[in-house]
Amino acid sequence: MEFTQILNQYHQFIESSLKDRFFKHSHIEHLIRKYAHVFKIRKLGNSNENRSIHLLSWGEGKTKVLLWSQMHGNEPTGTMAIFDLLNFILQNLDKPEIIALQQNCSLHFIPMVNPDGAERFIRRNANQIDLNRDYLDAITIEASILKKIRDEINPDFGFNLHDQSTLWSVKNSLEPATISFLAPAYNEECSVNKVRERAMLVIADIYSTLSKFIPKNIGLFDETFEPRAFGDNFQKKGTSTLLIEAGGLQNDPEKQNIRKYYFLSILKGLLSISNQTYLNKSVEDYRAISSNAKQLYHIIIERVSVNGVETNMCLNFEENNLNHPNVWVVHDIGNTTGYNGYTKFLNGPFKILEYVEVDKEANFKLLKDNEIILVFKNGKLVDSTLQIN
Ligand SMILES: [Zn+2]
Repeated sequence: MEFTQILNQYHQFIESSLKDRFFKHSHIEHLIRKYAHVFKIRKLGNSNENRSIHLLSWGEGKTKVLLWSQMHGNEPTGTMAIFDLLNFILQNLDKPEIIALQQNCSLHFIPMVNPDGAERFIRRNANQIDLNRDYLDAITIEASILKKIRDEINPDFGFNLHDQSTLWSVKNSLEPATISFLAPAYNEECSVNKVRERAMLVIADIYSTLSKFIPKNIGLFDETFEPRAFGDNFQKKGTSTLLIEAGGLQNDPEKQNIRKYYFLSILKGLLSISNQTYLNKSVEDYRAISSNAKQLYHIIIERVSVNGVETNMCLNFEENNLNHPNVWVVHDIGNTTGYNGYTKFLNGPFKILEYVEVDKEANFKLLKDNEIILVFKNGKLVDSTLQIN
């Protein structure tokens, strides 16, 4: 498939009713009805607060793939990308590669595993439990639903779709880690068996396409074994599992560009599985992808006179949930060598007259030549067009 062309035509299949990161379960429940004529829709159960969780299935092939999104309620990019993909499939049912996908694979999608968390825009569910640390007990309804459906379908491949902090950077480029991948480990030693290797090869194949578009913005997530997580345990159970994480991208706080690269990653991954092109890749190709690092701030101000010294200063935008105000926090004052910023104020010297405390809400005016450049009041950015990430 010609991926440049697909990206250029994104407006034709984007699920345009999902405009930002704050859509709720009621919207998803309504939306899935439109796929009922092509996809098999099955209700898997209800969340703790009685919100339905559905499985959408399509394809008659023997290679089974399970894709699930938003185990963490405030991580919606995978859900947006799934709906864009469903639309893309619907519009391209007559295309040779989609016909092949249908014949080679059976795809099973669960958009929004944690609807109660999405309702509050928080990571955890209504029990305040992190579903992705609940594999072993499956004490939450939602984790138990996901665990059961994997055991029932016994998929060959799994796509575990998440968002990560926008403060992750790619180690080699210091640019935002817009899309990160991981073939999760299935033991402490991070061994590589056939199951995990297959996931690595698919990721390497996705990378070969995605890196044509965002070469500096792709990283590998930390592979430390997490015995409580789903990806690690699915890998252990024989499902070659890929973790995909959406991070940040310049000028894209609502992740409307990122969703395109996320969609592209899933589509390429599925085509790679369908056409088995991943077999042309190696574990070395996977290992060659740069790792993630946390060397990024939302704002860096260089050469600022503050608290009696001239140095650099970093701020991050902290987003909690809908019930708490989102605030700018001062994260560091001092040397910033080795760090990058989404927004950088480089043409100092700047000056701050107020005393500034680290790890506190920003509460100051930034001056240049005695003119006010930025005003923060109790963590809020006042009178500025500065875009946040
Ligand atoms: Zn997550």
